[in-house]
Amino acid sequence: MRYYERKRAIVKTMKCKHLGGPCDLQLHGNTADEIIKAEDKHLKEMVASGDETHKSAFEEMKGRWKHPVSGLRWYKKTKRDFAAVPED
Ligand SMILES: [Zn+2]
Repeated sequence: MRYYERKRAIVKTMKCKHLGGPCDLQLHGNTADEIIKAEDKHLKEMVASGDETHKSAFEEMKGRWKHPVSGLRWYKKTKRDFAAVPED
C-alpha cells in the first residue's frame, strides 16, 4: 500500500520591483510580511555591496518605519498585491 502525503505549503512569489525596488529578483514567502522582510534584507545586501540602483528603494524602506501613516499605506497596498498573486 502506498501512501502519499501531500503537504501543501502556500508560497507566493513577488519581485523586487513589486516592492519598490529596481530588479526582477524573486522573493518567496507565505505572507506579505515574509516577502517584505526578504525585500528589506535584499535591499540592505545590495546597498552594502555598493549597488546604486537599490539605494532609493532602500531609503524609502527605511523611511517607512519613520513615517507610520504613509508607511502603512504602502504596507496595506503590498498586502493587497500579495493577496492577488497566484500561489506557485
Ligand atoms: Zn532588487
